[in-house]
Amino acid sequence: MVILKYEGKTKVVKREGGFVLLEFKDDITAGDGLKHDVMENKGVYCAEITAILMKYLNENSVRTHFLEYIPPRTLKVIPLKMFPLEVVVRFKKAGSFVKRYGGTEGEDLEKPLVEFFLKDDARHDPMVCVDHLELLGIAEKKQAEEMKEISVKASELLKSLFAKSGFELWDIKYEFGLDSEGRVILGDEISPDTFRLRKRGEIFDKDVYRRDLGDPMEKYREVLELCRSLSSL
Ligand code: UDP
Repeated sequence: MVILKYEGKTKVVKREGGFVLLEFKDDITAGDGLKHDVMENKGVYCAEITAILMKYLNENSVRTHFLEYIPPRTLKVIPLKMFPLEVVVRFKKAGSFVKRYGGTEGEDLEKPLVEFFLKDDARHDPMVCVDHLELLGIAEKKQAEEMKEISVKASELLKSLFAKSGFELWDIKYEFGLDSEGRVILGDEISPDTFRLRKRGEIFDKDVYRRDLGDPMEKYREVLELCRSLSSL
């Protein structure tokens, strides 16, 4: 029996037996949900890209919630109790980093930077540090450190994978949860919605949509083809 649990901006979450089904919708949003469109096949592309990249991470000792891809737009995943957090890893300056701290888009950071943000559209996802997470009862210090460590490891793996085809991973956002044994596991999705991916100045991520630079789905389709080709190497 399939039970509807929750419908978010870009996914429908269902429960089936001991598992969770994530159904990726064709909705695309930006600016805390203020900009919103529906684009044919967006959910199909993001579901398969997430499946390929999470399978790759699972095989390279980064545990994710991913179990199985159910074409065209559904993932079977491990149930997690999610932290209301976004964990961002940056290799280059871009987006909100440049707004907050200055510098130029695409400038290298000396080492990967990890930032935590509360998932709270009404408050525009405020940035928090580990002390906030403890104080607000959102995560223990040890869990936060673990999220940081897993995020950097996953990002280094994905950066190297994309580099095989000359693509640059600029930054990426993760979400984590606890499994039934209380382990910190990488959840949610990994797609052009959640990372910045560039090749010789060309944009292959949601910035195409955020900045109205053409048809984002052409780029999402190319990222899917890239992921398919990388996963067969
Ligand atoms: N990101 C995301 N969801 C969010 C905010 C950011 O997936 O709610 C991703 C974003 O696509 C980028 C990275 O996290 O790859 C860093 O985003 P940034 O903080 O620069 O914010 P933005 O420029 O997207 O507002």
